[in-house]
Amino acid sequence: MLQPRLWPVNISETNLPPVQYQLMKSGLICYLCGKNEAESWDHVPPKTLFPKKGVEHLALTLDRMSNSRGYKLPTCKACNNLLNLDEEYIRDRFSIVGQNTIARQVFKEGTQPSYMRPYERSKTVSKLDLIRRDIVTVVTTSSDGLITRKVDGIKIDSDRVDRVAIKIVKGLYYQNCGDRILDEQVFQVYWDPPNWLPELLSKQSPTVGRFGEVLSYKNVAIKDDKSGGIWWLSFYKSLGIIVVVLNPQLAEEVAKES
Ligand SMILES: [Zn+2]
Repeated sequence: MLQPRLWPVNISETNLPPVQYQLMKSGLICYLCGKNEAESWDHVPPKTLFPKKGVEHLALTLDRMSNSRGYKLPTCKACNNLLNLDEEYIRDRFSIVGQNTIARQVFKEGTQPSYMRPYERSKTVSKLDLIRRDIVTVVTTSSDGLITRKVDGIKIDSDRVDRVAIKIVKGLYYQNCGDRILDEQVFQVYWDPPNWLPELLSKQSPTVGRFGEVLSYKNVAIKDDKSGGIWWLSFYKSLGIIVVVLNPQLAEEVAKES
């Protein structure tokens, strides 16, 4: 029987990319799966949401709590690449809907030039075709019922947004609390703020931050639950998403109440 041959390997700074070498030496574990050793840095919020140029412009708008380009957190390769397509999808849709100048810039630099490329699974259909297909006209009526108008809206895949929002929350928690959110925690994502939210969000919280005009966030604890709480994310100062992280017991109580 053939014996496997072992080749001596000299793992040093010279034959591994510096980032990989540093991470290997650090012994850090992936902040997403909590199992594999980290091999790369993951950007939180996703790098694709940021404009390519204009860092100087972003820097001017920063306050002391801000970090213009986001955090770099340790991940294994598999976890780092898992949501790449979802993140690109969010970049495309949010940069179309986003109201501020940074959203416009991200649209021009990232979304528009990639229009003729297909998304995965629909290899023959370009991104532009899919975006056109998802634009719908919605009729809105004012609260007094007097004014009716038609506006164009774009459909957005909530599963993809939810996945990316949850990943961002995991990253923000890791950065702010220095630990992973426990695996058994339950995530609930809201697009329309539930009526109990404004009161909770008005509470003081040390966990707030802003990445230029790309993403702002705030975290408040829920009841006595220390491992997660409520996260409010605002993309391009126009799209609000709420992620609630509950332990399984509390999640059951909330489900019974509602
Ligand atoms: Zn991982």
